[in-house]
Amino acid sequence: MKEFDYVIIGGGCAGLSLAYELEINDKLKSKTLAIIERREEYKRDKTWSFWKVFPHNFDDCVKKNWENFSINIPNKSNHLNCKKYPYQSIDSGLFYEKVNNKIKLNKNIFFFKDLKEINLNNTFIFNSIPSIKKSHENLWQHFCGIEIETQNKIFDEEIFNLMDFDCDQRDSVHFFYTLPYSKNKALIETTWLSKMNDDTQKDYDFQLKDYIESNLKIKDYKITYREEGAIPLFYPFFKKEKNKINIGTAGGMTRLSTGYTFINIQEHCKYIRENIDSISKIDRYEISKKYQYLDEVFLRVLKKHPKIMPDIFFKMFKASPKTVIKFLSNKSNIFEDLSIILKMPKWIFIKALFY
Ligand SMILES: Cc1cc2nc3c(=O)[nH]c(=O)nc-3n(C[C@H](O)[C@H](O)[C@H](O)COP(=O)(O)OP(=O)(O)OC[C@H]3O[C@@H](n4cnc5c(N)ncnc54)[C@H](O)[C@@H]3O)c2cc1C
Repeated sequence: MKEFDYVIIGGGCAGLSLAYELEINDKLKSKTLAIIERREEYKRDKTWSFWKVFPHNFDDCVKKNWENFSINIPNKSNHLNCKKYPYQSIDSGLFYEKVNNKIKLNKNIFFFKDLKEINLNNTFIFNSIPSIKKSHENLWQHFCGIEIETQNKIFDEEIFNLMDFDCDQRDSVHFFYTLPYSKNKALIETTWLSKMNDDTQKDYDFQLKDYIESNLKIKDYKITYREEGAIPLFYPFFKKEKNKINIGTAGGMTRLSTGYTFINIQEHCKYIRENIDSISKIDRYEISKKYQYLDEVFLRVLKKHPKIMPDIFFKMFKASPKTVIKFLSNKSNIFEDLSIILKMPKWIFIKALFY
């Protein structure tokens, strides 16, 4: 069995982002890399969206940038500007194609379907397969999105809707999310923040149909793409090992209050690439403890008081959009943190410190 300098387990977002980052920075010229990926073929399966708070390698996979967004609760809507940090949507199909076309040119990079096919002695492992212990207490962000094409020009493609809470909450937190790619094309998602123990929340197709027809008042449309997923709003099990670093969701790159992961994966990959020559000695990279703590308190409130969450999200965006975006993208300073925290209902959050 062959041995490799590096092994990446899981050639998804994090695995391929890391392989690409190493490759374009000439870190695989004299090193070998095995990527263990079980899928038979790469095709579009996800849409990764985020605020672009720093440059990344995948601008050419962006389907669309927006500089304006809105957030809605029943009878109220807030329109915000995000020109400084535009919101971007990446098509995973374009991402897989770009990375695979690049890395296949390097004869030191190999793909395998199963870890059993290679020898793991003397190798450094980057693992992106999360170890998730089942618990009824864990929160998930679970969702389904469809891309639709309409006959008429219906959408305003200059502004996307981040959260529309004007919908059935079923004792959880539920919102719709609309990304208009053009006047007649949009991705519309139904998203739940819940423990996933209520199967009625999973009638996604019905929810989407109802929202499109009743709220958006669109009758004539066709579905051109569908994606479904569940992002853990807790950190997967992690065991410190000398020759292994977890990456992606497995590596704790999800912001637990939002589910945003893509942009953190990119930062983690850069950190690994910068330190690759001393990889077994570096400190573990993680989302700063400040955000881990604030998100934990936020999720405690969310679990206990789901009904007030639409209002809380709405109020949070009453702060300057630049500040909120920096906060949600792990880039805020203490004054910006405070300006967000002060928008929260004080007693509920103070009590949540002691649950
Ligand atoms: C549908 C969806 C939409 C999302 N949208 C956003 C978004 O808009 N913004 C955002 O920031 N985050 C988003 N996320 C969260 C996060 O960015 C993604 O989940 C991202 O793909 C995580 O990257 P990853 O490498 O950790 O996992 P994945 O991309 O899932 O990669 C894991 C890879 O491992 C492979 N694999 C699994 N088990 C094995 C095995 N035993 N052996 C070999 N290979 C294996 C899988 O086939 C996969 O290719 C989304 C998640 C989902 C599911």
